[in-house]
Amino acid sequence: MKKIKFLGTAGARFVVAKQLRASGGLWIEWEGTNLMVDPGPGTLVKCFSSKPRLDPAKIDAIILTHRHIDHSTDINVMIEAMTDGGFKKRGTVFVPQDAIEEDPVILKYVRNHAEKIEIMKEGKEYKVDNIVFNTPIKHIHDVETYGLNFKDKNKVILSIMSDTLYFKDLEKFYPGEILIINVVRYEEKKKIKHLSIDDVEKIIIKNKPGITILTHFGMTMLKANPYEVAKHLEEKLKMKVIAAYDGMSYIIEE
Ligand SMILES: [Zn+2]
Ligand SMILES: [Zn+2]
Repeated sequence: MKKIKFLGTAGARFVVAKQLRASGGLWIEWEGTNLMVDPGPGTLVKCFSSKPRLDPAKIDAIILTHRHIDHSTDINVMIEAMTDGGFKKRGTVFVPQDAIEEDPVILKYVRNHAEKIEIMKEGKEYKVDNIVFNTPIKHIHDVETYGLNFKDKNKVILSIMSDTLYFKDLEKFYPGEILIINVVRYEEKKKIKHLSIDDVEKIIIKNKPGITILTHFGMTMLKANPYEVAKHLEEKLKMKVIAAYDGMSYIIEE
């Protein structure tokens, strides 16, 4: 069984601060291995209020795409929860270098709870049990940021395009059959390093993924109604596009 659960779909500060959408991360279950991606505010609480309940002590690895608050606030408490309060040394934590340098988002004493802290770098590949993933390119964002590609027998089946400003050939780095895109903005805004719906359209046309899942919505996306935006894109491009909602599960493989 391979599946993704969206513990939250909020992106950017207002939607998170007002909790217009929940801001928990992604829980990925992959043939018995559990990964938590970007444990934003409320992730721990959401694990326990999920139906069925998700047990953080069963997480094998936590991946932080970047250190921004909406992705990282619960990382310390999730590391504690993964390690039975720090008493059971286990699990790997994958982070960009700047998440543990000056002004770190992971407290020093908490780092010792994990079995391993692995620094992510552009073009690097990683393994957790039988899961293989990579961080193909450094994004254009205010802090060090990476997206993720999950592979199965050398084929990328899931790509997660984390926060970034659009740049040339971005889509070439994320060839997943399932493509999750963090789309904060409905329309592009100068100086804001996030993807907009126009960017998403370009990306889908070029990549033709089996399904595109939009998430990480900012205010302008919520006002435009993510469900309607996805439906409109789907009709226009004749390709499967859905908007994630809080608590949504997506089954990759039964
Ligand atoms: Zn974000
Ligand atoms: Zn960000």
